[in-house]
Amino acid sequence: MSAQILDGRRVRDSILAGLKPRVDSLAAQGIRPGLAVVLVGDNPASEIYVRAKVKACHELDISSEQLTPAATLTTEELLAIVAGLNARADIDGILVQMPLPPRIDARRILLAIAPHKDVDGFHPYNVGNLVANSDGPRACTPAGILELLKHYRIPLAGKNAVVAGRSDIVGKPMALMLLHENATVTICHSRTRDLAAECRRADVLVAAIGRAALITSDFIRPGATVIDVGMNRLTERAEAERIYARAPEKLRQFDEKGSILLGDVHPLDGREVAGALTPVPGGVGPLTIAMLMSNTVRAAEQRARRHEAAPCSL
Ligand code: NAP
Repeated sequence: MSAQILDGRRVRDSILAGLKPRVDSLAAQGIRPGLAVVLVGDNPASEIYVRAKVKACHELDISSEQLTPAATLTTEELLAIVAGLNARADIDGILVQMPLPPRIDARRILLAIAPHKDVDGFHPYNVGNLVANSDGPRACTPAGILELLKHYRIPLAGKNAVVAGRSDIVGKPMALMLLHENATVTICHSRTRDLAAECRRADVLVAAIGRAALITSDFIRPGATVIDVGMNRLTERAEAERIYARAPEKLRQFDEKGSILLGDVHPLDGREVAGALTPVPGGVGPLTIAMLMSNTVRAAEQRARRHEAAPCSL
């Protein structure tokens, strides 16, 4: 059996294509969605993510503003930047790129972002809306996964869904979203007694752990849908040899680059046992930025509605 590949790039394109007419309609009302991205200090990985977010804004004709304060910034100074962005009518979404330098109190920063501009969906107010299944911005990665499952018409109601990982940004919101789709949800973590046995019960398995190829064939129920959130860069050849023993072309790729990107799901086992699988790269990754754009457009539409109700407040 060879798993159906769930193509995240295709779903991303379809999400972005759906946003374009909404951006055009806002433009006709004189409103251009605006996203502010705050990147503190120099973190090469964060710089790559931020560049990708700014590029996506550009392609959709969303205005983006990048603020790059030095790592020496204090919590109070960053709070002042956030307050300034909260007050600006032309900014619909505020994204403070994580991780922040350890000297900055990330929790205070998160709480300071106006909930209606929290396009990451991380503010406790928006987490509360998610728990209550009320309207509000949702965390981008799990929201993108839900879009992918819907795009491929993967049934969720009454199904066993297992989420491996309980982070605030992926595992927990994913579990709640699946619950709201009427799946029977199990959440696993590092203290779960028998992770393989729990995962094997899944009709839909979401792996968001951050451990390369941890999910092997004995974790996957034959025919299950497997969503691989993990993004792990493998740099040790011995490890690459172990994982890709049956795929010499992948080992060659590893040798050429000195590293290889892979998910939490063993790439060969996943394809052999799952019924459907997201690849890494090209699965979940592209969806996250598409949902960030979606949250920003949604916030701009709310601005347009506020403007209609009270034209002076724009
Ligand atoms: P995280 O905050 O480090 O959380 C990892 C979770 O996995 C924790 O809940 C941890 O349990 C659990 N875990 C760790 N080792 C485990 C084990 N051996 N058995 C069972 N559970 C285990 O990570 P995250 O931010 O959620 O990210 C997870 C992965 O997804 C990473 O590879 C990250 O790069 C990737 N990611 C990708 C995207 C994307 O757009 N593609 C977005 C976000 C994240 P405890 O809670 O008990 O410690």
